Amino acid sequence: MKHVMVLGSTGSIGRQTLDVIRQNDDLDVVSLAAGSNIDLLEEQIREFNPELVCVYSEEKATALRRRLRTNQVKVMTGMEGLITSATLPQGDLLVAAVVGMIGIRPIIEAVKRRKDIALANKETLVTAGHIIMPLAEKMDVKILPVDSEHSAVFQCINGENCSEIEKIILTASGGPFFGKSRAELEKVTLEDTLNHPNWSMGRKITVDSATMVNKGLEVIEAKWLFGVDYEKIQVIVQPQSIIHSMVEFQDGAILAQLGTPDMHLPIQYALCDRKRKGRYGEPLDFTRLSEITFGQPDMETFRGLALAIEAGKIGGSMPTVMNAANERAVELFLQKKISFLTIADIIEEAMQRHTVIKNPEFDAISAIEQEVLAKINETYQGSY
Ligand code: NDP
Ligand code: MG
Repeated sequence: MKHVMVLGSTGSIGRQTLDVIRQNDDLDVVSLAAGSNIDLLEEQIREFNPELVCVYSEEKATALRRRLRTNQVKVMTGMEGLITSATLPQGDLLVAAVVGMIGIRPIIEAVKRRKDIALANKETLVTAGHIIMPLAEKMDVKILPVDSEHSAVFQCINGENCSEIEKIILTASGGPFFGKSRAELEKVTLEDTLNHPNWSMGRKITVDSATMVNKGLEVIEAKWLFGVDYEKIQVIVQPQSIIHSMVEFQDGAILAQLGTPDMHLPIQYALCDRKRKGRYGEPLDFTRLSEITFGQPDMETFRGLALAIEAGKIGGSMPTVMNAANERAVELFLQKKISFLTIADIIEEAMQRHTVIKNPEFDAISAIEQEVLAKINETYQGSY
């Protein structure tokens, strides 16, 4: 039996993780954590009977405790609760499915306590990959990718020698605005942005997919996960989201992983030791698939992609600045306080203001994040 801890159990990845656990008798839940959705968390507690849960919001935790009076589960709050949920002594594997930089500390603490990590939360590797990857190696901890592209690469390199990788080809759907001009993007609304053509995901990553910042974050994530230089990572647009990514080896062979877009497969692959288990969703029917097409990403129109890759190449604290600025800009966009194109402007302004620090420790990452957020709040106050 593998004992699983799920951070972000009420989200898109969290809910699909619980579907996978339902289907696999050798997986069992020991802790759950969410931000504030106690209605769903309560249902999950009653079904999975974890030993500990965390609700980040103190107020919501109090309400949940009241509802669960007769239940045995311990309810914690805040960062202490997240860390405790991520490091339970009986836990074997942490599914990191919270969104944003809030995941960094719990993940670092889990790695220190030798918990394997099924990683959906890409913001953590983007900002703290230089801390997490060496620590994972030292502690002999597996970092198992859940992001579909990285899972595809992970599947393609199974049994291969990583030193023979020539190129990682990350595919991008291009999001809802693929092919649009900047002039057209000036008019897009929040509703247009949240309408992703192929994937149903949380709101933040759906916006990131539309700006293509998501693909930039994934380039950085790939660099850390697979230990390859940026020159060896290529982004191509594959609008049908059928090829989830590819790996080219030095002899010219290219391996790809294909399938209908469904996150259950990468989640199950990470949770079940790379075993091929139950099927989710529709099988891919090539006879009904009229075409698989490819395109170049438009780095000028989707400037967020170019900025994110640039931040990765600069390295040090720059990815933190890019990521923190993006997180705040996306929040402002979701609150309808800024326009779609302003997201990339905010990222660019933050990066221009920053003087890079090499190898920032966790405290420096946190301080830089706060600084970036404060400056954005000050500058965009007029937008409220
Ligand atoms: P969602 O917004 O659907 O879910 C986020 C989860 O995080 C929710 O359970 C939410 O709780 C929880 N959360 C938010 N803030 C806190 C907090 N302070 N403390 C504890 N829990 C918190 O996001 P997704 O599931 O879409 O994405 C999660 C991560 O996975 C992101 O990093 C994303 O980039 C990545 N990812 C997602 C994919 C997808 O298909 N969705 C694909 C690849 C990667 P609550 O519901 O209570 O707010
Ligand atoms: Mg992805």
